Amino acid sequence: MADSKSHAFLLTGKKRPSQDDFEGDDIFLAKKSSHLSSDVPYSDDPLAALAATRHEFGEHGGVNMSIEASATFTVMEPETMGRMFSGELGPDRDFFIYSRHFNPTVLNLGRQMAALEGTEAAYCTASGMSAISSVLLQLCSNGGHVVAPRNLYGGTHALLSHFLPRTCNITTTFVEIGDIDMVKNAIIEGKTKVLYFESMSNPTLIVANIPELSRIAHKKGVVVVVDNTFAPVVLSPARLGADVVVHSISKFISGGADIIAGAVCGPANLVNSMMDLHQGTLMLLGPTMNAKVAFELSGRIPHLGLRMKEHCHRAMEFATRMKKLGLKVIYPGLEEHPQHELLKSMANKEYGFGALLCLDMEKEERANKLMHHLQNFTQFGFMAVSLGYYETLMSVSGSSTSSEMSAKEKELAGISPGLIRMSVGYIGNLEQKWSQFEKALSRMQDSIFTNKNSVSSILK
Ligand SMILES: *Cc1c(COP(=O)(O)O)cnc(C)c1O
Repeated sequence: MADSKSHAFLLTGKKRPSQDDFEGDDIFLAKKSSHLSSDVPYSDDPLAALAATRHEFGEHGGVNMSIEASATFTVMEPETMGRMFSGELGPDRDFFIYSRHFNPTVLNLGRQMAALEGTEAAYCTASGMSAISSVLLQLCSNGGHVVAPRNLYGGTHALLSHFLPRTCNITTTFVEIGDIDMVKNAIIEGKTKVLYFESMSNPTLIVANIPELSRIAHKKGVVVVVDNTFAPVVLSPARLGADVVVHSISKFISGGADIIAGAVCGPANLVNSMMDLHQGTLMLLGPTMNAKVAFELSGRIPHLGLRMKEHCHRAMEFATRMKKLGLKVIYPGLEEHPQHELLKSMANKEYGFGALLCLDMEKEERANKLMHHLQNFTQFGFMAVSLGYYETLMSVSGSSTSSEMSAKEKELAGISPGLIRMSVGYIGNLEQKWSQFEKALSRMQDSIFTNKNSVSSILK
């Protein structure tokens, strides 16, 4: 496309552009070069890919896109309505019907998500759970089978082990995701529809071998769905072979701990099928994202990379120092972590190894005592579930986010009763925050924390 033309397109906005403004019918344009960036090749780096997506200007030339706050859309000619409902005219040509279906502002956020994850398409939902449940319901019909690890976000675990079997006869075989043979054996050819896992598992931070798992699943015709909530920017599952990436945007991508949102990133045909007027889970179950929320979030994605870098830098530094103190810490950035090398081989360069770390205090009361000091005496962080906030958030997984699991399931998943999950924040300066951590540790009444040697002898 000639420069002058794309410039004109840029200045006039994209309200009802003529057909030749479009190169094809791919409405999402993340993987293909977009009109305003045809000289920028698609990149394997998530931030470069984000920068190369079409920048959407406001209706009056504002540097930010406008919010399309309408629930419904007008047409100029009565015949147009029928052509929209038949699928002939769609959002790729800037024809919108109703905002539970496609909304332009939400679609733009979807384009950013697709660029971030390197997928052909993406669409955003009202929550991470609705993204996950909609994808699973779209891919598995009644009687379908899923293979998934035991170590899963508690809500997803409950969905797979209780809700889906009861409501839809969709069953799951739970496996150790690190045991490739176990995964292979759990896949029933013809019946298994989805291999589902988290790129970095909650809360024990097991890193999945995405390329290998994708390979064995694809050999048996199984779709690979990866929850990348713990590691946006750090890992790009779709670039490593996965078919679909789901996100709870409520965490790092939002970064503000003020919004519940989710996304499904994947092939255009899957996303389109989820929006289908007769068969689509997003269209028919309706977990729609509000356009005002989509606008708010789209302004946060440009600094996601910067935030992740600092989150990860702090987590690495704290994990290293905690380990030096003799504390039992789980962090995939540490060389001793069983999947450290694997993570290094998969991670996008220079963003770090994730912002979550686990501190195993073994007993719940000891974990609670430390968190109490960390929040109420030294202001190191907050006792709260969730992750991705600028403040450090801490929770004891066994009695909070993984409490849906039985004692046996928790034991199998390696969740000790004193496991504190920390989502390391980036507020303040690093030394200030570290001194708050040390001060809280020294306040522990428990004699084992009074000196370094006894800490290491008991907790190792
Ligand atoms: C929070 C979370 C979810 C659920 O997302 P919501 O936005 O709360 O619905 C799913 N997976 C993981 C890994 C999460 O951390």
